[in-house]
Amino acid sequence: MEAPFSKVLIANRGEVAVRIARTAKALGIKTVAVYSDADSNALHALVADEAYRIGGPEPAESYLNIEAIVQIAKLSGSEAVHPGYGFLSQRADFVERLEEEGLVFIGPSAHIQKLVGDKLGARRFFHKIGVPVVPGTLNPVDRRDAPSTAEELGYPVIVKPVGGGGGIGMKIVWSEKELLEAINAAIQLSEKTFGRLEIYLEKYLPKARHIEVQIIGDKKGTVYHLYERECSVQRRFQKVIEEAPSPALNAELRKKLLKLALEAAKACNYENAGTFEFLYDPTTQEFYLLEINSRLQVEHPVTEMVTGIDIVREQILIAAGENPTFRQDEVSIRGHAIEARVYAEDPLAYFAPSAGQLTDYREPSGPYVRVDSGYYTGANVPIYYDALIMKVVCWGLTRDEARRRLITALEETIVEGVKTNIAFVHLLLNDPTFAKGDYNTRIVEERGIVEKLKEYSYNRLRLSTPSSHRELVTTARVDAWKLASRLFP
Ligand code: ADP
Repeated sequence: MEAPFSKVLIANRGEVAVRIARTAKALGIKTVAVYSDADSNALHALVADEAYRIGGPEPAESYLNIEAIVQIAKLSGSEAVHPGYGFLSQRADFVERLEEEGLVFIGPSAHIQKLVGDKLGARRFFHKIGVPVVPGTLNPVDRRDAPSTAEELGYPVIVKPVGGGGGIGMKIVWSEKELLEAINAAIQLSEKTFGRLEIYLEKYLPKARHIEVQIIGDKKGTVYHLYERECSVQRRFQKVIEEAPSPALNAELRKKLLKLALEAAKACNYENAGTFEFLYDPTTQEFYLLEINSRLQVEHPVTEMVTGIDIVREQILIAAGENPTFRQDEVSIRGHAIEARVYAEDPLAYFAPSAGQLTDYREPSGPYVRVDSGYYTGANVPIYYDALIMKVVCWGLTRDEARRRLITALEETIVEGVKTNIAFVHLLLNDPTFAKGDYNTRIVEERGIVEKLKEYSYNRLRLSTPSSHRELVTTARVDAWKLASRLFP
């Protein structure tokens, strides 16, 4: 098979950049990495066929620096750019800038980025075509009208910045007393982070589960689904553990959800990979569209594990104008997959990011264990970016088999030199509520996971190798990487 592109630039860092390079290489595509000054020895820069410095450590100087990335794409002779997630992955101006230079953006078009990037605009669009959105306002709310609007919706409500993302500025409000304070805080944070002042209100659904559908659209207007993922294990509105399929759905509910997602995707002529996120209210068995993520998502591997479809491959093929490799009636789910995100952070210090050199590092392995990581022994976890070190994803014929396999994998994982959340996710996976699959987005709070963590210790693998020998092993590995870094420009 001829490669869909000769060369692709990966405009990202960390595990996702490494993961994209792997698929690109498997398709016979040459890969180009870009790195900031904080990442000159980062794994993603070492595994690519070519690597170029883009700028200083601050994201604005490097991974968000559109002009520098465009220049390197041209200089290196790249034909296309994969943005990964975060950074420039959902920026319509980036898509348009690449197009101006005759470069292909591997992801949805600028038109889709604009539609779904505006949270309220998207709510209006999907509401109009009859896809249920989470009950709430379809326009920005000002301080004056907020109390009566919240009263109408009924407390609790959730205040959201229009320009939002990453849970930033979102606040659950249980009574009018807290409302204005929450709105002021949201506006302040939103202005600082997103440069926008508007906020809106949604009814807060305390028992909701976060269930999302993986969508793939080709360039001819056909949309496909790769089933759902459940991502209700969250902390401060951020996902921690994800799984596929969702333990909340029976065949009938699943059919209803997939139909809704396909309708929504079709209505906006969705192209390339994307995720249609829903809140599911088990008390009413209703689904509400929450938002659309017009990019590859962190948790995409659980879908890959149960469907056998490489989502990055499909993204690349579709961007090159080719057909997806599957037909809808060929897509089925086999078994169950669960992913745990391992972060460099301190759960006992309000999850503060923990930067530093990884003095010891060992990834788990074994049957049906997949690790996506951007690090190695001796590598540095910079303070400038997301603190995700690795994703450990396990498959099992049953959910419980996948869960136990993941628990074992985490026990075999060694990350030294920075604080991590491994004990936190280990505790969650062992929690009886999670084990039963009967949980919602409040599980971390309701099960008191952070409090229990203070008393929690688990049997982590201890390598009994004499320390002198262990040092030798470590040094040898670091040297190999250093050598590798000299071989690449
Ligand atoms: P962001 O775009 O900042 O990530 P989202 O709107 O996608 O924010 O919401 C993130 C998470 O916050 C959801 O997965 C869910 O757990 C929670 N959430 C958001 N809106 C609601 C709501 N109306 N009711 C209950 N939970 C919500």
